Amino acid sequence: MAILSQILSAVELFMGNVCKSLVATQSYSTSGDADLVVIGSGPGGYVAAIKAAQLGMKTVCVEKNATLGGTCLNVGCIPSKSLLNNSHYFHMAQHDFASRGIKVSDVSLDLEALMKAKTTSVSQLTSGIAGLFKKNKVTRVDGHGRINGPMKW
Ligand SMILES: Cc1cc2nc3c(=O)[nH]c(=O)nc-3n(C[C@H](O)[C@H](O)[C@H](O)COP(=O)(O)OP(=O)(O)OC[C@H]3O[C@@H](n4cnc5c(N)ncnc54)[C@H](O)[C@@H]3O)c2cc1C
Repeated sequence: MAILSQILSAVELFMGNVCKSLVATQSYSTSGDADLVVIGSGPGGYVAAIKAAQLGMKTVCVEKNATLGGTCLNVGCIPSKSLLNNSHYFHMAQHDFASRGIKVSDVSLDLEALMKAKTTSVSQLTSGIAGLFKKNKVTRVDGHGRINGPMKW
């Protein structure tokens, strides 16, 4: 998780600089139009959208999935680390605890609970992004975004 947060900080720094360049070269919309439309709400998209909104741009994020957060939060980093972490505890209970002076008996795996813990972590984090969008006034649009050409969407 420490590595993940370092990576996310680096992405935030990078996307922050990209957004600052955009802000420097663009005057803001005063109508209902958006200053910036971000397609996709993975770590790249949600960080860019939030940073742009924090810098004052009217920002829309289009996401085709039911939940925000992209591969990382929904099916990649977060669920895999939840399963790996808890599998590691299981392995330790079976093979490592005794040598540390911890006696346990009848260690068994409750796969349903393991999967539930994973799902809980995922939904807490994906709804956390939804909360950050709300807090930072990023408008979420459900659907498939498409760039039709320069200044056309
Ligand atoms: C199993 C696994 C484990 C991983 N573990 C780690 C890890 O531990 N650490 C790490 O740093 N990285 C990890 N990664 C990689 C990490 O998930 C990706 O680097 C990261 O998600 C990329 O972010 P992104 O925003 O570029 O793209 P994505 O996270 O893929 O987000 C793209 C989003 O855009 C949406 N989208 C795409 N096209 C459209 C469209 N036309 N309209 C609307 N929405 C659209 C998609 O639905 C998706 O939500 C892992 C990946 C996998 C598969």
